[in-house]
Formats: sequence, structure tokens, C-alpha cells
Amino acid sequence: MKKKILVTGGAGFIGSHLVERLLKEGHWVIAMDNFHTGTKDNVLAFLNNPRFEVLRHDVTEPFRIEAEQIYNLACPASPIHYQRSPIRTVETCVLGPINCLTLARDIHARVLQASTSEIYGNPIMHPQTESYWGNVNPIGPRSCYDEGKRVAETLFFDFHREAGTDIRIARIFNTYGPRMSHGDGRVISNFILQALRNEPLTIYGDGSHTRSFCYISDLVEGLIRLMNMDGFTGPINLGCPEERTIREIAELIIQLTNSKSDIILQPLPIDDPEKRKPDIELATDVLGWTPKIPLEEGLSRTIEYYKPIADDNSPPTKQPR
Ligand code: NAD
Ligand code: UDP
Repeated sequence: MKKKILVTGGAGFIGSHLVERLLKEGHWVIAMDNFHTGTKDNVLAFLNNPRFEVLRHDVTEPFRIEAEQIYNLACPASPIHYQRSPIRTVETCVLGPINCLTLARDIHARVLQASTSEIYGNPIMHPQTESYWGNVNPIGPRSCYDEGKRVAETLFFDFHREAGTDIRIARIFNTYGPRMSHGDGRVISNFILQALRNEPLTIYGDGSHTRSFCYISDLVEGLIRLMNMDGFTGPINLGCPEERTIREIAELIIQLTNSKSDIILQPLPIDDPEKRKPDIELATDVLGWTPKIPLEEGLSRTIEYYKPIADDNSPPTKQPR
């Protein structure tokens, strides 16, 4: 069954891959974006597709669009972007879901929230299961995003309980791949660009912090399975359970790029979670989902994407808001 699908944040990294996959499946897709961190380049390849439309709109402003499914991805996702305008980040985290949920309630659409592993904060339980309530600083520099995303989950469940809205919540762990915005400071894009330019790789702290990285096509598969699973709201973890230290990631990227780069240590950002690894038993049981792309393969594909960008030394193009 071909559906009308709205993807907020559709011009971003995850959004554009989701749009691409949905179009390939024959759906009618509208990407809504204010181009805060996303770019038109990410959706340029789909513009000639008659089943695709881009709408420049801010998710914090109410909207009315016909859709059977809504994926709410609109939100800056990298620490430097979401901390640059924290009040705006909270607004996007809270008003975006309210607008998506109100529309879903009124037109009887199903709505999926792109939540995050950040809702677990600096986790004491390891690996993190969905039943863990987290360890989040409510007043720190990351709180605008962490607490904003937690309120979003609350809103999803309140609409579900109060109005019967058909909701899905995906807790997305670190995801990487082509079209990650270069210049947004995330570790994979930073390290790849630094390695390709033979510049020092900047490890924050001593490199012992851990993350678990999921390749973009695996994540998109998980999101689509969750959206189309009847009778299951989540929240559900979507991520790769293979945990690596940041130093291991740096060394692997130096090796895969044949780089002459050194590693330098820089101060650790405040409240940077020490470890992060999803327990994905629920996703495996309910969705039959596990990530398939090994880290080395995903990194190699991502490195290919960044090669022309690394040759171009100009700073990333920022679109006016
Ligand atoms: P991204 O920055 O590439 O994409 C976010 C998109 O949302 C951008 O195109 C941006 O322009 C748009 N946007 C931001 N604020 C908006 C607003 N107010 N109105 C309309 N559009 C707006 O980030 P991403 O990595 O693709 O993340 C997408 C979603 O997934 C986010 O909600 C993020 O919190 C979540 N997530 C991502 C990761 C990850 O590792 N990438 C991990 C956990 C959760
Ligand atoms: N990080 C790093 N060097 C960089 C960028 C990030 O050591 O150039 C670290 C960062 O401190 C964190 C981890 O890598 O411990 C992942 O950072 P990222 O911003 O990609 O994601 P998040 O912190 O949101 O998980």
C-alpha cells in the first residue's frame, strides 16, 4: 500500500536517507524543513520525482498537511548546533512534537518521534534498556536537547493516553554515514575530515569514552519497521550494540584513510556521557531488526563520501534561516 508520508527534518542527514528509501518504496513523500542544519543538497536528487515535495516550514509553527504517517525528525542533533541556541532547541523539541501530534490526532495519522539515547544522559545502567529512566542533568549545557527530547516522549504518551493518538517512539543511538553535515562537530565527520586532510584528530578527554555507531541504512530500516508495526508504541532502542572507545574510532579511521595524522587530546565537553551502548533485545524480538553493516564497511562508505569535501578547504555552506 503506497502511503502519503510527511518527514519533518527531511533535508537533514537521517531525514534525507529516510526520504530516499520511502520514495524507492513508491510512497508519496513531503519533506518539511527550515534548513537550520539540513541543506537542499541533501534532497536535490529527489526533486524531479513527482511523488516528492519539499516544504520550507518551521515545525514549531502549526501546519496542516494530509498524511497517513508522520516521522518527526526536525531538530538539530549535534551538540554544537543544539547548544548554539538552546532556547530555540527546547522550542523545537517541544513545539515540534505538539504540532505533529495535534495533526496526527486530528487526521488519524500515525506519528513517529525521533527520540535519542541522550534521554539516558550519563547512564549508570550499562548497556541501556528501554526500562532505564536515565541520569540526566536538568540544568547543564546539554539539557536543552536531553530534557527537550524527554518532554517530547512525555507528550507522545500523553497524546496516546488522552486522545488515543497512534504513536511510535524510536530512541536512536549514534548514527553515521554519508550526508552527515560536515562542520557540525560530530566525532565521525570530524575524524574523517581531519584524517583525509592529514590534520591531527581531536580526541576530547583521554579517548576512553565509548559510543556505539550504527550505519544509516540500518537505522532507516529500523525506523520503517517500527512505523509499520501494528500495536506497538515503543519506546524502542535503535542502535548498534558494538561499543568502541573514541580512541579506537580515531585509530580505525587513520588506518582506513591511510592517513599521516596524529592524535591530540583536547578538553572534554561538560556532561559528555562516558559510555553508551544500546540493549537491542526489544528491537530484535519485536521488529526482527539488527544492524547489518559492520563498522569498517560503514566507515569506508562514509570516507568515500567525504573525499571530495576534504579536498575543498572552504568552510561548509550555511544557509540563512
Ligand atoms: P540533522 O541536523 O542532519 O537533521 C535535522 C533536520 O531538522 C535538519 O534538516 C534541520 O534543518 C531540520 N530542523 C531543525 N530544526 C527545525 C525546525 N524547527 N523546523 C523544521 N526543520 C528543522 O540531524 P540528524 O542527525 O539527521 O537527526 C535527525 C533526528 O534524529 C533529530 O531529531 C535527532 O535528534 C535524532 N537523532 C539523531 C541521532 C544521530 O546520531 N544522528 C541520534 C539520536 C537522535
Ligand atoms: N568527540 C571527540 N572529538 C571530536 C568530536 C567528538 O573526541 O572531534 C567525542 C565527544 O566528546 C563524545 C564522542 O566523541 O565523547 C561522540 O561525540 P558526538 O558529538 O559525535 O556525539 P554525542 O556526544 O552526541 O554522542
